[in-house]
Order: sequence, then structure tokens, then C-alpha cells
Amino acid sequence: DIPQPTYKRVMLKISGEALMGDQGFGLNPPTVERIAQEVKSVHDMGVEICMVIGGGNIFRGLQGSAQGMERTTADYMGMLATVMNALAMQSALEGLGVYTRVISAIPMDQVCEPYIRRRAVRHLEKGRVCIFAAGTGNPYFTTDTAATLRANEMACEAIFKGTKVDGVYDKDPVNNADAVRYDKVSYDDVLAKRLGVMDASAIALARDNNLPIIVFSLDEPGGFRGILSGKGTYTRVGS
Ligand code: UDP
Repeated sequence: DIPQPTYKRVMLKISGEALMGDQGFGLNPPTVERIAQEVKSVHDMGVEICMVIGGGNIFRGLQGSAQGMERTTADYMGMLATVMNALAMQSALEGLGVYTRVISAIPMDQVCEPYIRRRAVRHLEKGRVCIFAAGTGNPYFTTDTAATLRANEMACEAIFKGTKVDGVYDKDPVNNADAVRYDKVSYDDVLAKRLGVMDASAIALARDNNLPIIVFSLDEPGGFRGILSGKGTYTRVGS
């Protein structure tokens, strides 16, 4: 018996690091598979799912430019890293029988589809998971901003930001035993208190379009599905 989901179309944003498991770098296939299972369990509820996966497990533009690389070139390398992660997730999802499209902001037709908004919407309506790759296609942005942009374009009802902890805390909960989790927090407080949910441009874009951000733990088995069934702990960033 399948619970009625609280949202019909959502964006799931995960960092590239979420795919590397205990390794210090790259992709850990069992971890990718585990996350794919979580996505499938929500897809099984009839929820239309968009995904954006970061690239930090492979390459970050800032890291390259700190080592003397030209910033925009380094950012393009970061965007390409997100395509690799998207393909790995597509492979894992399709292994579970979930039809998936990888849609890149930078056309690479032999590898995946180019981003055409109406086409992506159609995929969602047909029940295909859409993984948006290559970020926004522009340097100086992050995949958090890409997730917010695509969530707006696809008319998602919320962004689900999967992290290592079950919400937004007043200070780092990993290093501070007395850290307190917010149930709800406003966009402005996230920005003013620098709560580190997403970067400032992503938060501002969500705020200006009134798009809620649900911060939850991706490490909690069944957590994603739980929240969509109205259970579990998380922080809702919104107005
Ligand atoms: N990137 C970019 N434009 C975008 C999205 C990403 O230039 O619209 C680059 C940027 O260099 C970034 C890298 O891709 O460092 C990987 O993305 P991100 O750091 O957001 O990944 P995450 O931290 O979520 O794993």
C-alpha cells in the first residue's frame, strides 16, 4: 500500500561527494546504487523526479583555479564532472528499471540529450527521471544554482537537498554537540546567518520564486520517501 505523496514533482539535489562513499574521490558504485534505490522508492509513489548532481567528487572549479588554472576552464571541467556523475546515476537507475534521461546544459549529443525545456517537461510527464547535467552551462555558478534554476523551469514544488545531516543547524552539528536543528527557517535568515544550506545565489533564486528547500539526510535509509509520505525530520527553508 503506497502512501499518497505530499508533492507531485520535486527536484533532488545531491552533491558529487554523496556518490563517493568512504573513498576520498570519485564514484563508489554501491553508494550510487543505494541512492538510486532511494530515488526509485519515491518514483514508485508516482512522484515526478528531477535530479541535479554536483561534481565535487571529481573536480571543482575553485580548486583548479587555486592551483593556477584559468577559472572558466576549471569551471567547465567541473561541469563535465557532473555529466559523469549523471551518467553513473542513470546507469544505476536504469539497472533498477527506472527510465531516466540525462539532459545536459552543454550539448554533447553522443552522450546525452541537450536541454530543451518542453522536452524535459514531457519526459517528466511520462514518468522518466530527468537528471540535469553540466550545471547551468555557465562558469561562476554552482550546481545548487543549477538545481534551483531547473526546479523553477520544471515547476517543481520543492527542492530536496540531500545532505549528511537531517536539516539545517545553527552551527555545524558534526563538531558541536549542542547544535540545534531548525524545523523551519526563512531564506533571509539562511543568507544573514550564513547557514550554508546552499550558496547565496541559489538561495536568492529560490526566495525570489518562493520555492521551498527541504534539507534532509541522504544517509538515512528510506528518508527521502519518508518525507514525501509526511514523516521524518528535516528543515524547510521557505517563507
Ligand atoms: N560548475 C559551473 N557552473 C555551474 C555548475 C557547476 O561552473 O552552473 C562547476 C564549478 O566549477 C563547480 C563544479 O562545476 O565547482 C562542480 O559543481 P559543484 O561544486 O556545485 O558540485 P558539488 O559541490 O555539489 O559536488
